[in-house]
Amino acid sequence: MTDKYAVIGNPIKHSKSPLIHSAFAKQTDQDVEYSAIEVPVDALQSSLIQLRDILKLKGINITVPFKEQVWQQLDNKSERAERAGAVNTLIFNEDGSMFGDNTDGVGLCRDLTVNHAVELKGKRILLLGAGGAARGVIAPLLGYEPAELFVANRTASKAEALADLFNDLGHINGGGFDDITPGFDVVINATAASLQGEVPPLPDDLLAEHATCYDMMYSDNDTAFISWAKQHGAAKTIDGLGMLVEQAAEAFHLWRGVMPDTQAVLQKLR
Ligand code: NDP
Repeated sequence: MTDKYAVIGNPIKHSKSPLIHSAFAKQTDQDVEYSAIEVPVDALQSSLIQLRDILKLKGINITVPFKEQVWQQLDNKSERAERAGAVNTLIFNEDGSMFGDNTDGVGLCRDLTVNHAVELKGKRILLLGAGGAARGVIAPLLGYEPAELFVANRTASKAEALADLFNDLGHINGGGFDDITPGFDVVINATAASLQGEVPPLPDDLLAEHATCYDMMYSDNDTAFISWAKQHGAAKTIDGLGMLVEQAAEAFHLWRGVMPDTQAVLQKLR
């Protein structure tokens, strides 16, 4: 029998996840069906029950705006999801229980370090934003032992709180955009500013020589942040499509026990 999965969000029409997971299934010969389901913003809990009991799904991915809400509703989570404060992958177990995980961090780090050969160890990393996406990537980034991870956010107190929360894992500090110092090797944009075609206020001397700039947002054309990075001398600019495919691969592996070839799918999407 075909096993069913889905991504839930609101809105969800734009999602590339069904395309990605269908490609993974075909490539690995798995009998899997994957759809996109829009869930009303005020009906998450009842929707989860319906997805499990009526649609009989085996698992779901979760996107904006539900990642943190799902985290709050689940008792059973992986350690990385527990830390992240957000769940992007869920398993409906045979006994009806639900297990939450977060694959965003591993997705970003794999895209940076494997697909784009970006060195993180000993580097100065700036993370812009302190929302769900930023939270999910902090622990995995610190795992690479950067010299410093600075989290900068429009609401400075949120970045400071995140730095406090993760400071047992490495050298992390937080503040507002005004607190950003020059000379970062890797700058990761996890703000939603690109969605409005905006760039956070950044100093002109932000980038060190050979710097890499990564925008979690992806688009057929350069995002506002990628344009800014090119104008300010970034050696490498990368958008978030690779992160999307890598986090999906990790979720697929969790559900199916096989790791798909992400390169083939990325090439198809580009
Ligand atoms: P959240 O809504 O949780 O957080 C939004 C963040 O952006 C906050 O830090 C907010 O600051 C900041 N922000 C919003 N507007 C502006 C602005 N105009 N100027 C400066 N800062 C701003 O969103 P997520 O964390 O879930 O997502 C962030 C981005 O990452 C989105 O573009 C999303 O599409 C992308 N993403 C990509 C993924 C991928 O696989 N490629 C996976 C997950 C996310 P404040 O706290 O002050 O409000």
